[in-house]
Amino acid sequence: PTSKLPDVGTSIFTVMSALANEHKAINLSQGFPDFNCPKPLMDLVTKYMREGFNQYAPMAGMPQLRHQIGQKTERMYGYQPDPDTEITVTSGATEALNAAITAVVKPGDEVVLLEPCYDSYAPVIRLCGGSPIYVPLALPNFSVDWDQVKKRISSRTRMVIINTPHNPTGAVIAKQDMDMLASLTSGSDILVLSDEVYEHMVFDGQQHYSALQHPQLRERSFVVSSFGKTYHTTGWKVGYAIAPPRLTAELRRVHQFTTFCTATPFQLAIADFIEEAQHYLQLPDFYQAKRDLFVELLRQTRFEAVPSAGTYFQLAKYSGITDAYDLEFAKRLTTGTGVAAIPVSAFYHDKTDHKYLRFCFAKSEETLRTAAEKLAKL
Ligand code: PMP
Ligand code: GLN
Repeated sequence: PTSKLPDVGTSIFTVMSALANEHKAINLSQGFPDFNCPKPLMDLVTKYMREGFNQYAPMAGMPQLRHQIGQKTERMYGYQPDPDTEITVTSGATEALNAAITAVVKPGDEVVLLEPCYDSYAPVIRLCGGSPIYVPLALPNFSVDWDQVKKRISSRTRMVIINTPHNPTGAVIAKQDMDMLASLTSGSDILVLSDEVYEHMVFDGQQHYSALQHPQLRERSFVVSSFGKTYHTTGWKVGYAIAPPRLTAELRRVHQFTTFCTATPFQLAIADFIEEAQHYLQLPDFYQAKRDLFVELLRQTRFEAVPSAGTYFQLAKYSGITDAYDLEFAKRLTTGTGVAAIPVSAFYHDKTDHKYLRFCFAKSEETLRTAAEKLAKL
């Protein structure tokens, strides 16, 4: 029996978190907060568990949650998706991404990816018999070169995957980018998968621009988000996909035989808590303060922070410290210095190394200060 993904190893997030734990390093590698979710949200989960909401949820998601997602989407993006035909609750954004790709990509299809990109897209495309077509984001600020994208679009292109705010770089896509994408795909069968899990983490007064805000794009898009990011609950694995009815129908064909449904008490608790709009409206300020602190702390080190507009990640160039390959440097930093980070080569298909590490700043001030003290010793 030959492997279907012979060159795919263990995800870098698993590798670096395990190394951090083994060496008791401060873990700024895998993206997750080191602080708890809001207490009222936790209380709602236990309330629903005690009330007996512990059996299967409907396949598409609890109606209350889909309703709340629809209302919130209208408030944020001026478009109200139909909860019955356009919204599907999934087990994290990871499952939504998998279902969207699996539902539409056939053997021989091509899917355009903008590199560096999140590590789950390409393996799923390949499991479907499709080919990832890589277009590099343009250095130094990781902007999309739409001329390059246009050159790589062919009669075999099935989908373009975008991610804004962008993991790992923190870049955000502007309305003009979405206009370009809409004009590149209009009149074709090309679909768009827009990974917007960091939608509430955009800084410096900028606004997230969702594919849902763009009338032409949303006609052909799956838009994916995750409550793990918004509510500091990455371990709950509750996410969702919004797509037009014809695409949602296809996505659900896959979703129903992947997980069928997602944990009921978490869905009910989140449905209630979405009404506390203050939580997500304050998230940009909450994370911007952490980004600003971390960037300030990095000034006392030989790392060079790359300007970042969103997400809870900060890229830092380390060529002033060493010319080592980023994976080797990240491992040494974990085992020797006591701070774990993600080598950005993991987000490139050929593991190209541009001498960047990715640090997660979704951490308490104390964690960030202690980490920076260690980094300053290099
Ligand atoms: N997409 C991106 C860009 C992410 O950073 C993450 C979280 N690491 C996911 C998808 C997956 O989200 P979830 O944890 O909800 O599956
Ligand atoms: N999305 C998280 C990150 O980029 C990790 C998720 C995972 O571990 N699969 O760090």
